Amino acid sequence: MEKVNLVHDDSKVGTRNKRGDWSPNAKAPITPLFWFPFKPLKFIKNLFAWNGFFLNFYHLLWGGMAVFCWFFLTPSVETLKTFQLDWIAFLTIRNTIIILVYVSFYHYHFYVKKTQGNSFKYNARFLDQNNPKFWFKNQTKDNLLYVFLSAIPIWTAYEVITLWLYANQFIPWMTWDTYPIIIVIMFLLVPTWRSFHFYLTHRLLHWPPLYKIAHVVHHRNSNPGPWSGLAMHPIEHLLYFTCVMIHWVIPSHPAVAMWNLFHASLSPHAGHGGYDRIVLKNGKWMVTGSYAHYLHHKYFECNYAGDDLNILDKMFGTFHDGSDEETQNTMERLKQKNYIKT
Ligand SMILES: [Zn+2]
Ligand SMILES: [Zn+2]
Repeated sequence: MEKVNLVHDDSKVGTRNKRGDWSPNAKAPITPLFWFPFKPLKFIKNLFAWNGFFLNFYHLLWGGMAVFCWFFLTPSVETLKTFQLDWIAFLTIRNTIIILVYVSFYHYHFYVKKTQGNSFKYNARFLDQNNPKFWFKNQTKDNLLYVFLSAIPIWTAYEVITLWLYANQFIPWMTWDTYPIIIVIMFLLVPTWRSFHFYLTHRLLHWPPLYKIAHVVHHRNSNPGPWSGLAMHPIEHLLYFTCVMIHWVIPSHPAVAMWNLFHASLSPHAGHGGYDRIVLKNGKWMVTGSYAHYLHHKYFECNYAGDDLNILDKMFGTFHDGSDEETQNTMERLKQKNYIKT
């Protein structure tokens, strides 16, 4: 009898429609932290448990990279005091290599080797290779252009300015010796702040004039891939990375500010990969996709927040849990707005 690898068998947890698009059977839940009625013990468990609100593999990976870069791949405070081409170029190259290696891992696995085929893939189609809406008619090349010529330079510019401000003590710097606990708390809160900031700026980007000028560039990726995560118009990048400006006002530590920017730069790729989970050759798997954000790319008028704070969508009536009923509701909202041509 042939051995069936249940890990690869996406029919156990999802359904494939006639077009071959796969969707999870379970409705997308509100983040457990905000479950009602309020239960204190459950709340604390959801807050601090592994894969809970604060601690999970991705937060440790991206946060760890930010701290590593602060200690080992950032020039000395003395150097950061004056803008010099050499260290700015160094940070640009450092950030370029990080993105190149990290995003290539997903792109190679899903779209070059096609290791999983269509298993756990939301949209049956692969990335566009002959679509005039993209530069060079090629979705991947187009996305690469926006990531390398806009996202990385603008991310680095915000990082350079922030580090320069810290080095010159133009913004308040909490030292580790004096405020270790507050710095740890701020570190844990970075993803929550990012979700809140993303929700606000994302709503703004769906304001018709701004959508038509800027956000439409990201939304051309109705069937996104890993490189689509940061494929945005420069105006959107300028807005997107303002998340770091909170440290220009609230006392903090440069490593926390860098973690904020690293979260903005590294978190979108797995979630835009188009797959619900990544399954490695050895059978080990991990959740990668954000079905809620995939639905945003598909239906526009829903799920503006990141997964952590989807309570905001629930509160403002834009939460799409993946059900047919919510698709109907979203389509109704979409009809009332005529700035998006689907
Ligand atoms: Zn997106
Ligand atoms: Zn959008």
